[in-house]
Amino acid sequence: MNEASILLTPGPLTTSDRTRAALDRDWGSRERNFMELTRNLRERLLAIVEGNDEYTCIPLQGSGTFAMEASLGSLIPPDGKLLIIVNGVYGRRMGKMCDRIGRPYQLYETPENVPPDPAAIAQILAAEGEITHVSMVHCETTSGMLNPLEAVAKVVAEAGCHLLVDAMSSFGIIPFSLAQIPIAALMASANKGLEGVPGLAFVICRRSLLVAGQAHSLALDLHDQWEVLERTGQWRYTPPTQVLAALMAALEQLDEEGGVKARYERYRRLCEILRQGMEELGFEPFLPPDLQAPAIVTFKLLDSPAFSFEEFYRCMGERGFVIYPGKLTDRPSFRIGCMGAIAPSDMHDAIAAAASALDDMGNPLS
Ligand SMILES: *Cc1c(COP(=O)(O)O)cnc(C)c1O
Repeated sequence: MNEASILLTPGPLTTSDRTRAALDRDWGSRERNFMELTRNLRERLLAIVEGNDEYTCIPLQGSGTFAMEASLGSLIPPDGKLLIIVNGVYGRRMGKMCDRIGRPYQLYETPENVPPDPAAIAQILAAEGEITHVSMVHCETTSGMLNPLEAVAKVVAEAGCHLLVDAMSSFGIIPFSLAQIPIAALMASANKGLEGVPGLAFVICRRSLLVAGQAHSLALDLHDQWEVLERTGQWRYTPPTQVLAALMAALEQLDEEGGVKARYERYRRLCEILRQGMEELGFEPFLPPDLQAPAIVTFKLLDSPAFSFEEFYRCMGERGFVIYPGKLTDRPSFRIGCMGAIAPSDMHDAIAAAASALDDMGNPLS
């Protein structure tokens, strides 16, 4: 991979020069200026989803998966029960976590191209009295599907349960507000739609869910992480200091772009250029446009013996674009992301690169 490659993947993503420049200094984790940075970041992240005083933002060292596991273990009591909505890898991963950390759960699974049905969820919650929490991936990066957050949140709240949302590939991309949608907790990370660098995740949750002594783990105990931050302004264990500084720079750029609405518009445009350009080259998107989130697009492999993903991947890489293998369970596929600090012209270049890659491969469809 050459240094200037554009990352069209599920993350980490292409970041701006300004965001990377913010990495270029050291911070003492117990210094006043770093405590101030942490406090500002927590407030700004909360403000993006209009969280009021009932909510708090808890930053956590690690990638998004760490925040997922921390949340399932910290926010669900050992005698609670989770209903996991599954239509892809990330939903399924929550089941694996519950197996490991000993939280009872049940799956509600739909095929990877089918969104969950809120009425079916309401029925399960009515029939299964022990369920206390429900979890769903907002944008399922496996397929690129945008799951129906508002409708699902409504039935979960009506059943008196708490909704936990994997908002990894929707936070900072899809505008939504905690003032309008009843969400108990959401998890996201610095390096997707916020366009920061990897190494930091965070959880935004109702304070009432934070109970001492409930977590399965010491390092992933969200209550303790929160309690120490609130009481001392400091992190429990070594924070990824430069990563926070880069995220703050990235959030300033999000504001300058015009906030989440403007970012959504840019990603939507990137997604449109991508889908349309690839369709013109003969590739078929896995999802119809109305189920597609502007985060990542899954394409079926070309139905030709002359096409191989490995070769296509290599040819795209030579031209400066990193694409990604597919993860669908029942058919071969690949993915191209439309997140990150990139412009529509970059996506047009990516489509031109795909056309010339196909030329190199002897035009498999001709
Ligand atoms: C990226 C992502 C995650 C977290 O993955 P990490 O590799 O741990 O950062 C979780 N859920 C979804 C939907 C994602 O897109």
